[in-house]
Amino acid sequence: MKDNKAATGTPRSRYTERKHMLDERRREIQAEVQGKMRGVREEGTWGGKLNEVLDAVESAEADIQEELEFSLVQMKSETLNKINDAIARLEQGDYGYCFDCGEEIAEKRLRALPFAVRCKDCEEAREVAEQRERQLAARRCTSGLFLDM
Ligand SMILES: [Zn+2]
Repeated sequence: MKDNKAATGTPRSRYTERKHMLDERRREIQAEVQGKMRGVREEGTWGGKLNEVLDAVESAEADIQEELEFSLVQMKSETLNKINDAIARLEQGDYGYCFDCGEEIAEKRLRALPFAVRCKDCEEAREVAEQRERQLAARRCTSGLFLDM
């Protein structure tokens, strides 16, 4: 087997280590998502065996619970998507480099946030820019309102 993909700048050992880290993370989240879905289903069948009055109360609570579980599962699957993206970038040799400035993202940051696509500085700059954008948009909105009056 020829090993040419990872040769683009990333040493093989680091590639393996990162691949392993991302795979692990993905497995963890997948297990969590599957566990949650199973839990919801089991609760449902169990609730069906209770007497009718209790059943009504329980199912209302179960609904809320299910909604919560659902949004949690949704959040997890978004994270899962990000990890899959990160794995794809790793395969291409782009992983670990900042989208904006192209600098390497600090190892420490990648460990905490394996699917980070920007270095800390660029991410912060982006947040500030987005905030400013929102403020400007809000101001435009208000001035537009005043013009209409
Ligand atoms: Zn950057």
